[in-house]
Order: sequence, then C-alpha cells, then structure tokens
Amino acid sequence: MDARDREAERAALESEREHVAGDLRAVYQQAAEEITALRDEFATRPGKETTVAALDARLLRVVHGMDADAEEWAQDALTEAYAGALELRQNDFDEQGLRVQIGFDDLHEATVAHLIEQFAGPPPEAPDWGPGDPPNLQWVNAYCKTKEHYRYNELAAAATAAGKLKGETVTETTQRLLDQFKTEGVKGFKDRSGREWDLVDYAYMAARTTAMLADNAAQENADLEAGFDLQRGLVAAGACDKCTPWDGVVVSITGATKGYPTKADWRASGAGHPHCTCAFVTVVEE
Ligand SMILES: [Zn+2]
Ligand SMILES: [Zn+2]
Repeated sequence: MDARDREAERAALESEREHVAGDLRAVYQQAAEEITALRDEFATRPGKETTVAALDARLLRVVHGMDADAEEWAQDALTEAYAGALELRQNDFDEQGLRVQIGFDDLHEATVAHLIEQFAGPPPEAPDWGPGDPPNLQWVNAYCKTKEHYRYNELAAAATAAGKLKGETVTETTQRLLDQFKTEGVKGFKDRSGREWDLVDYAYMAARTTAMLADNAAQENADLEAGFDLQRGLVAAGACDKCTPWDGVVVSITGATKGYPTKADWRASGAGHPHCTCAFVTVVEE
C-alpha cells in the first residue's frame, strides 16, 4: 500500500464518517423542528393548555423520542464504523502479506459496547460537559429539556411582574410571554468553555467524533492483536495547528515501546478533537 492508497483510505474513512453523522443530524433536525412547532402552537393558542407542566410533558416526549432514535443510531452506526475500520486494517495486513487474522472477539465486542454506552448511555455524574470530553447525548438531551423548562419559568415570572405594573390582563401577559418564549426559547446549550451549541450542530459533531473514536479504537485493537504497538500519523492537508505536527510521526499505542510519544500524548496535545480527520497507519517495521 503506497502513500496515495493510504490517503485514499483516509479520505474514505472521512466520507464514511460524514455519511454516518448525517443520519444522526437528521434525528436532531426533526426533534428541533418539533420543539419549534410546539412553541409556535403554544404561542398562537394561549389558554388553559398553556401551562409549564403541559409544555414540559410535551417537550419531554420529544426529547425521549430523540433519545430512543439516537440510541438506535449508536447501536447500528458505531458497530458498523468499528467493523469497517477493522476490515480496513485486515485488508492492509493482507496486502502487506502478513499472516494475521483479526476476528471479532470479546475484546472488540466490549470496545463497541463501551463506545455505545459512553455515547448514548446515562449521562455522567457531573453535568459539566467540556469540549475535550467524549460527547454524551443523554446528558445534552436532559440538559436542553431542563433549560427549556427553566427558561419558560423565568420568562413567566418576568412577564407576570411586568404585566402587573402595566395593568395588563392575564391574556395579554400570557400572549406576550408566549411570543417571547417563541423567540427566546433555548434550542441549545453552552459547554464549559462557553461555546454555545445548537442541538443539531452538536449531534453532528458528536456523531463524527464518536465515529472517529470507533475508527481509532478498532485500529488500535487490531494492531495490538496483531502484535504491533507503533502507528504513524496521517494528517490531512490543511489540518489545524494542533494536528499538523503529528504528520508522519510514529507513536506508541500503549507506551510499551520506549522512545516514542504515545497515543495519549497525541490526544493530550489537542489533536484528535471534534471534526478532526486525522488517521493512523500501522508501522510494521521500524
Ligand atoms: Zn486538528
Ligand atoms: Zn486532526
């Protein structure tokens, strides 16, 4: 396999990730549209139904539907991404004439299960998601739902106070509140660095990042199973400042081979971030 083949392999992995992530984006797109429609409906039909509890219950239904679809996505897409990356490694070994047979054994099954759990399982204890942490959809979904709830309460309190001062009727105040909620409701959330995420953008980023983690894990496991601990960085043209220095650099997956930076060093340097398109190839001889 020459350099051009490897570049084609990297590009193929990348376009597969894009495709897979698009499916999850569609799930979130639909949920976002449902949330918007919910607000519109409440805003145009103020009345008895317009209570925080009623809005909350319906938001919850949308979020639960989103959760279920996202989990289904994780099961299918991550298993597929992992198996695909494993197959690429097997082809690579075959082409190099290595007598290595990678089976889908317990280790691989456990790794895929872990990836799915991390992505779609219960949210981490501390609701303090940061850009370097693995994405967790349940946490984001729960957070957004809570935010919508609190935002509505907050606006309701402010609208009621202002309405009293102005001598508005309850209907007038309610209408004003709903108009405000429609334009100011929370569609996303802020991460620890203060970056504001739109739900749909987040889902797409999370899907791409988790597919990348699946690729990486599959390749590391395949290499280790075949008895190789060294990998060489393959960085796309136009990659960022954090990734570029790793192009062509040989790293040790486990740190067992002395004298090389490790995969953990690579991660700690800020490379392998969301939307990163870097890949690694097995070093057979060094
Ligand atoms: Zn980068
Ligand atoms: Zn990168």
